[in-house]
Amino acid sequence: MNILALLLALAPVFTGPDGRLQVRFEQDGAQLRYAVSYDGKTLLEPSGLGLQTNDADYTALTVVSSDTETLRDTYTLDRIKASRIDHPAVRGVLHCQNPDGRPLDIEWHLTDNDAAFRYCIPRDTETGSVRVLRETSAFRFPEGTTGFLTPQSDAMIGWKRSKPSYEEHYRFDVPLTERSQYGHGFTFPCLFRVGSDGWVLVSETGVDSRYCGSRLSDYDPVAGYTVAFPMPEENNGNGTVEPAFALPGATPWRTITVGADLAPIVETTIAFDVVEPRYEATRPYLYGKSTWSWIVWQDASMNHADQVAYIDLAAAMDFPYILIDAGWDQEFGHAGMEELVRYARSKGVEVFLWYSSSGWWNDIVQSPVNVMCDPLARKPEMRWMESIGVKGIKVDFFGGDKQETMRLYEHILSDADDHGLMCIFHGATLPRGWERMYPNYVGSEAVLASENMVFGQNHCDLEAQSACLHPFLRNSVGSMEFGGVFLNKRLNRANGAPGPGGRVFGTQRRTTDAAELAIAVLYQNPIQNFAITPNNLTDAPAAAMGFLREVPTTWDETRLIDGYPGRCIVLARRKGATWYVAALNAEEAPYSLDIKSIEARLGGSARILCTGSDGLQTISTPKKPLRLPKDDGAVLVIRPTNPSGF
Ligand code: CA
Repeated sequence: MNILALLLALAPVFTGPDGRLQVRFEQDGAQLRYAVSYDGKTLLEPSGLGLQTNDADYTALTVVSSDTETLRDTYTLDRIKASRIDHPAVRGVLHCQNPDGRPLDIEWHLTDNDAAFRYCIPRDTETGSVRVLRETSAFRFPEGTTGFLTPQSDAMIGWKRSKPSYEEHYRFDVPLTERSQYGHGFTFPCLFRVGSDGWVLVSETGVDSRYCGSRLSDYDPVAGYTVAFPMPEENNGNGTVEPAFALPGATPWRTITVGADLAPIVETTIAFDVVEPRYEATRPYLYGKSTWSWIVWQDASMNHADQVAYIDLAAAMDFPYILIDAGWDQEFGHAGMEELVRYARSKGVEVFLWYSSSGWWNDIVQSPVNVMCDPLARKPEMRWMESIGVKGIKVDFFGGDKQETMRLYEHILSDADDHGLMCIFHGATLPRGWERMYPNYVGSEAVLASENMVFGQNHCDLEAQSACLHPFLRNSVGSMEFGGVFLNKRLNRANGAPGPGGRVFGTQRRTTDAAELAIAVLYQNPIQNFAITPNNLTDAPAAAMGFLREVPTTWDETRLIDGYPGRCIVLARRKGATWYVAALNAEEAPYSLDIKSIEARLGGSARILCTGSDGLQTISTPKKPLRLPKDDGAVLVIRPTNPSGF
């Protein structure tokens, strides 16, 4: 081997299919580092690679050889922001060894705007399984980079000691030196703005029963952010923080999405590109819209008359589902539930039932409890659900990110599929590729969701800001079970009618009806539990209810038109030949929405739902741009002028 070939072998460069994304490697003594650039601009400075197991230390690594191949990511998905993925990719493998000569491969997967990597440990000795003690994978950003970050909570705090549950506030555009609120770093995904050079979204995918969920540490001036494992206190202190797997085996993928602008951040499918289905579905699953009484009418609605009212609301809206939330077992018993399910199905409405996951990891009293955590109770319960025609479960209040909890998610999903049950998770971790990995997985909360708007006015005040944020972050990497879209003015049953003493109670919605319709498009979950109430059939604008009847919950394509996290967004989602474009403004300064240019870009003519002098109105394309004040939005339904145009 000549000197040049030797140097190339030691310092390979992996380049994305269109040549704009580059990952280069450097060897600093025994330390192997990687750096990421896009269009020649550095987005990640040389950052650490490596991990340590109980069997071998791979934190010092030397590249022995490398190889690359070009391939295509081609697959279909029925429940996210895109239905058919078909793009070129580059697979690169660094064959490394540690100073003791123990081999380790680092596998890379590059698309035009994503770089993902994972560690693959062979079975090179008698040892057939390992515990991973730590990972030194790091993310070092150029000076001046700012972050859009949400902290990992302390464990065993909050409602009935049920945290961490990914229900924390975001900090916007903060310097890297800013410490996380609880001192435990930040949960995925994390968004970074590298000055005017570009954007980077860091997350992970492919986490299943064979690993824990990870997060980013606080920023270290030398190492940068590193991959951190769960805290010992999670899951009530039960279960290890060191993930273990059989050899040969691999870690989950660390994902890095980059772009000169934000479109690749919103449109990425890397969370799904690099994972595989974990099992074949026992039957097809159908997605769509749902009603649920708990969100506005709360615990008091767990009674026969109110559940019937919400079943009838779903039927009137042509929604296929109702979610019957906590406490149903105490109110109806299993026999009463059989009767209610029979009634729902007679109206063409299928049923989801709520369960607590616990368990020994919180103090939850909402029932049913201690069913989903225990296979001996779970399996007969699921058989019963299948026998009466229940179609899904919502399981709430999980114990954190330890491997033990990831195992519980997977076991619930796998058992549920045996009985034709779809799964929604609340009080839960971020889904990491699960929409492709588990055929009956629907979506997870893992966000400060709609319930907080019922509990506190500040969450209503921030509703538009949140809806302008999540499409760039939380909802970019996975389905988000937000449970929103309110058409009540007050988020309670009275909806503005005076209560005792003539007082009006309840938190107050700040957004316009048009903004709420925009949120129905901005937030993506394959089953949308909308927060509408039976009174909305008569007191909400007919055009709003008509739009909610029409709006899809899964999409063929998603494109960012404009926006900035937390400030404003214009997002286009396509279903068949129709584009649904949602615009929302969270800033004091009005947003100017140029509908003609959007029509020209997407091809077609728009029907527009926006705010007029008398509230929600439907118009055709205006001559001038539409002016959206703070908390106002609009929806454009664009059908092709030439129907064969798509
Ligand atoms: Ca929650």
